Formats: sequence, structure tokens, C-alpha cells
Amino acid sequence: MIRPPSAVMFHSTRCAVASGDSRGGGETKLMNPANRNHKMSQFTVAIIGGGFTGATLAAQLLRKSGGSVSVVLIERGARPGRGVAYGTECAEHLLNVRARNMSAYAEDPEHFLEWVRLNHDPAVSPGDYLPRLVYGQYVSSSLRQEMQRYPGQIEHVQDEAEAVSPAGLGEAVEIRLRSGRTLFAHKVVLALGNFPPGDPRLPGRTPHSQRYVSNPWKSSALGDVAGDKSILLIGSGLTSVDVAITLRRSGFRGTIHILSRRGQLPQTHKPTALWPPFWDDQSPRTVRGLLRLIRMQVESAERAGSSWRAVLDSLRPFTQEIWRTLSLKERRRFLRHVRPYWDVHRHRVAPAIGVRLASQIQDGRIEIRAGRIKAYAEDIDGVDLTYCDRVSGQLERLRVDRVINCTGPESDCRKVDDPLLRNLMRQKMARPDSLFLGLDVSLDGALIDANGAASNLLYAIGPLRKGSLWESIAVQELRVQVSELSTALTGVRKFDQLNTRDNPGRTHQEPIAV
Ligand SMILES: Cc1cc2nc3c(=O)[nH]c(=O)nc-3n(C[C@H](O)[C@H](O)[C@H](O)COP(=O)(O)OP(=O)(O)OC[C@H]3O[C@@H](n4cnc5c(N)ncnc54)[C@H](O)[C@@H]3O)c2cc1C
Repeated sequence: MIRPPSAVMFHSTRCAVASGDSRGGGETKLMNPANRNHKMSQFTVAIIGGGFTGATLAAQLLRKSGGSVSVVLIERGARPGRGVAYGTECAEHLLNVRARNMSAYAEDPEHFLEWVRLNHDPAVSPGDYLPRLVYGQYVSSSLRQEMQRYPGQIEHVQDEAEAVSPAGLGEAVEIRLRSGRTLFAHKVVLALGNFPPGDPRLPGRTPHSQRYVSNPWKSSALGDVAGDKSILLIGSGLTSVDVAITLRRSGFRGTIHILSRRGQLPQTHKPTALWPPFWDDQSPRTVRGLLRLIRMQVESAERAGSSWRAVLDSLRPFTQEIWRTLSLKERRRFLRHVRPYWDVHRHRVAPAIGVRLASQIQDGRIEIRAGRIKAYAEDIDGVDLTYCDRVSGQLERLRVDRVINCTGPESDCRKVDDPLLRNLMRQKMARPDSLFLGLDVSLDGALIDANGAASNLLYAIGPLRKGSLWESIAVQELRVQVSELSTALTGVRKFDQLNTRDNPGRTHQEPIAV
């Protein structure tokens, strides 16, 4: 039985949103702009972004430091711990990972299972795929627990960080917020998460298009769809699956058309016999060689009664290492030729979601198409789309009431419309990685500036590290990053060593703990 969400209360400083307004909301000792010479009495870490990664990092910093670190969690939303993935209110949005693999703490693999049995349903089994909203409650509750244990040590500042720059002695970094306020910290961690999808090329669409939804993750994005007869989702990955579920939940009974270049939906999880690890130091260092190796393993697995799922799963603990051993040229080759197939096999949906999709495809309520959109023409009653069908090569026409962009998170920082990223790059404090999958970072997550020097003040965590790690979006990898960064940051205590002037740019390889 699903219990109603418990009220999650945070000590939160809500800031006025209008730029320049410094009056709204309560003040914190760190934020008072009149007190610019105020010296922080405690080692202070500012975390920008309070989704899964930011919230668990905040909790870990308190836990590991025994409350001696002060954390400012800057999150534009009202509920830290949720972010895009776990902020959903729809109980039909399920985790795409079994409960046993969803502990927020790498050091405590049973943590989620224990919490969920105590707070949600005692009968949950390790193989269950639970609602994402329950997971959001779990992350929030873990954070709240640390906040109660160490009162006053975490401040949730509900605002948006727009710029970061070096500050004076003892106040290593200055952070400017959208409200016009300024706060200071010794270290800043960017936990910005997934950016909204970039708009695909739709010749004929204008910025005034009324029937085009650019960002499906905005709470108001889908509006009233009950009266629509047909909707087109562009993209056929996990975002598209999520939106299809939301549409049905919102009363939409018409046809959902899903169009992508290859028309491939994510595969479904299925129970399978485990397959032993097979990647080692002697394995190929080329995409072609790796694919050959994987195909051979899949054949052996199938002969032994296992499956490709188990083969991919057995690669998971090595994926980051494999990525690092590939040359830039090979990584590019992977992105160009293999990525679409990798994505649908690696990012699988929960069995119950797979069943729902299959039944709607079978009865024609979902239609999958493969092709490229060539023209978009919107009139008062709907949208006419022309696309080139991948198989026939013919131009096909489609008339729909609404078009929703489900192409997945934009990762190219040059294209993301984000003031903080723009500012960091303009000030040359950050640069995109060579593959434009996120920001250029060292192995420990320190930002690498435009001149190639690793920062000793600014760190990135989460999807921003995809260029360096590839696997850097799911809880299983993020919790390891959180653990490592929190250990490193709680080892940094000597204030007199923290100023940039005393401690200019480290090289990439140095560990961050001092
Ligand atoms: C729809 C969806 C479903 C997913 N399901 C799973 C799953 O089942 N299992 C799994 O392991 N992974 C899943 N993931 C992967 C997901 O990336 C991670 O699990 C995790 O949520 C990422 O956390 P994050 O904190 O890095 O990003 P987010 O959770 O996106 O949080 C980033 C936060 O930063 C805030 N923010 C950004 N910029 C600023 C700023 N300038 N100032 C203030 N605040 C800012 C945002 O408001 C947001 O709350 C899913 C992802 C999505 C999008």
C-alpha cells in the first residue's frame, strides 16, 4: 500500500525572484549583502542544485564532518531532493532500477530497502520497481534526518544561482543569485542535473508556435490534453515513455505518435541469469573490437540460458573505466554509430511500463514511426508535419493537435540556455568537454578552466561529468561521486589554504583533499 507523502519541511530561505530585490524572504548570515566583509566562521560548501545529487551530497557532508561543515543548498524548487526525476506527482512513473540497487549511499546498499519497508510498504521486495515519487520522499527524508541531527548546518536557499566568481581572502567564492543577493562559500559544487531538451530542427516552426511544447518537464507543459485527438512525441527514449504515461494519466484518449530517427523504444527489464564480468586489461580498446567482444559474450550467454541484458549489466561496473581507455576518436565513433543502440538497451524500462507500452502499440493507441521531420506547419486547428520515412525513403504526412519535444536532456553546454553556465564560460572559469557532453572536469570533478587548469574551488557532480565518465546520470554512479567528493571536501579544513591567491589552479591529477 502506498502511504500518502509525508510533509517534508526544510529550513528554507525563500528569496524574491525578481532580479535586484533584496527584501523578500528571511535572511541568512551568509547572504546579507550589507555584510560583505563578514567572515564565514565555518568551512562552508555551497551546492548549486538540490536534486538527488545535491541533496545527498549535503547530507553526506554533514554526516562525514560530524556537522562541522556548513552547507548552503541553492535550489530553485521548493522541495530539495526531488529534481526532475523524483519531483513527479504521478505514481505511475516508476523507477527504471530495482529497489535493491537504489540506495542513495554507496557505503550502505540496503539503505533504500530498509527505508521503504519502514515508511512505505513492509512487503517491498528487492526486485520491485517503485514509484519515483516514493524515491523523492526517501531522498528528502535522508536529507531532513541529517538536518535534524545537525540543526542550522544546512540552509536551503530557494533561489537560482546565476554567477560565480572568486571572492576575497577567507571567502573563496562569491555566488550571485537571481534575486540579486550574494552569498559566499569556500567551495562550490555544481549539481545542476539534467538540462531541458534542446529544440530539434523543425523547418516552419516559429517561436510563437502555440501547439509545440519545448520542455515537457515543466509542470504546466502539457496543459489540458483531454480534448486532443492526436499528439506527436518527438524522440522515443525514456522522456517519451514518461510523457506517454503522463498523457494517459491526464485523460488523453487519442493516438500518441512517437517519431524518432530509428523508431526504437527503450527495451524492458526482464529477469535473467547473471553473467560474469568479462572485460579486463587485455580487452580491445576500440569500439569495433568491443562490439565484437560483446556480441561473442551475448552468444555465449544465450547458449547458457542467460541473455544480452546480463551481458550489458556485467559491463556496468567497468563502463567508466572502458570509456577512459578509449581515445577521443574512438569515443566519437561510439557516439556517432553505437549510442542510439546503447541507449535503448542500457536504459531499460520497468516491466510494468513495458507491458503498458506493448498493449497500447498493439491496439494502435501508440504508433511508432522512424524518420526525419522535414516540415512543420501550424494552423489554428492543428499541426501538419512532413517527415521522410526511414524505411521507404518517402515523404509522409501527419496531422496532430500537439507536438511535444521528448528528445531528452540537452548536454551541449554551448546550447543550454542557462545563465550560470554562460557566466562561467564567459569568465573562462569553465569550458565544455571535447565531446560536448557536459563540462570539462578532472577525475575528481574539479572544473577545468579555459586555460586547462583544474580549479580548487569549483566542482561538478552528476550529468555534467558525462564527457569524462560517460556513465554519470544514474543513482548507482552518482552515489559514488557523492561519496568521493564528500570525503574529499570534509578533508579540506585549513581556511588559510583555501584562498585562490594562495593556492592557484592545481593540475588535473592532484587529489583534492589536503
Ligand atoms: C525522468 C527521469 C527519470 C529517471 N529515473 C531514474 C531511475 O529510475 N533510476 C536512476 O538511477 N536514475 C534515474 N534518472 C537519472 C537521474 O539523472 C538521476 O537519478 C538523478 O535524479 C540526477 O540527479 P541530479 O541531482 O544530478 O539532477 P536533478 O535531479 O535534475 O537535479 C538538479 C537540480 O538542480 C536545480 N538547479 C539547476 N540549476 C540551478 C541553479 N542555477 N540554481 C538553483 N538550482 C538549480 C534544479 O532545479 C534541479 O532540482 C532519471 C532521470 C530522469 C530525467
